[in-house]
Amino acid sequence: MIGQHDLVSGAHFAFTDRWGGVSAAPYDELNLGGAVGDDPGAVRANRELAAKALGLEPAAVVWMNQVHGRDVAVVRGPWEDDGASCVDAIVTDRPGLALAVLTADCVPVLLADPVAGVAGAAHAGRPGLVAGVVPAVVEEMASLGADPTRVVARVGPSVCGGCYEVPERMREEVAAVVPEAYATTRRGTPAVDVAAGVLAQLARLGVPEPPRPTVCTLESDDHYSYRREKITGRLASYVWLDGADGSTNPDERDGSGESGRTEDRTAPVDGAGAADGKSGSD
Ligand SMILES: [Zn+2]
Repeated sequence: MIGQHDLVSGAHFAFTDRWGGVSAAPYDELNLGGAVGDDPGAVRANRELAAKALGLEPAAVVWMNQVHGRDVAVVRGPWEDDGASCVDAIVTDRPGLALAVLTADCVPVLLADPVAGVAGAAHAGRPGLVAGVVPAVVEEMASLGADPTRVVARVGPSVCGGCYEVPERMREEVAAVVPEAYATTRRGTPAVDVAAGVLAQLARLGVPEPPRPTVCTLESDDHYSYRREKITGRLASYVWLDGADGSTNPDERDGSGESGRTEDRTAPVDGAGAADGKSGSD
């Protein structure tokens, strides 16, 4: 279910594995991706199971329609009825609103500045690495008051450089933009290490170095791998900030006039469609 859950100064960073859900093969068991051919009812049930395990309301999780680009959206509530935006990164200054990234080999990047109360999440595959989705999301967080040198980062399970074989020309193209992503497989063939590239981009932005990812999705039977399985599910990575009262439900905090918050840094913004229980498709 939840393979890893770190809490740093009120910022949560959580990563699922593939177990504990209701999806049938080849999506077994906890597929959280809605655009991979799995039964939508199973995906909805899995999202509810994962949210419950994390102490989140399912409607307080924002999913993306990921397209391997570098666009970033600022979110302050669930998407409206027309569904999730086609972006590969989202940022928020709303405590209790969880940002989710779907992956199966690509690199999920979770970021939070607990002091500024700003969180960000990005989907960085090879195209996103080259396009610069990581600098883009950090820049957007900074526009909301985050300081890159204060940002806590986590990089989730993804395919490692020893496994991610690519044509020589593609390795050269990636390395021309991010030299640190240049890699070689264990068989001695050209490869790309996307996670190493992401870590290098974060370092250049001044973000303190996160722990190196320890799980290679392609080598782990506990994780989905697109490269290994082709038709398979998606893992999810979640980042969110606790509120001043420790609550993780934004709706509860906004409703009452007697919350324990001692300051309002930002004007309250009504979450669009917050009451309909939909968190958008992906
Ligand atoms: Zn590997």
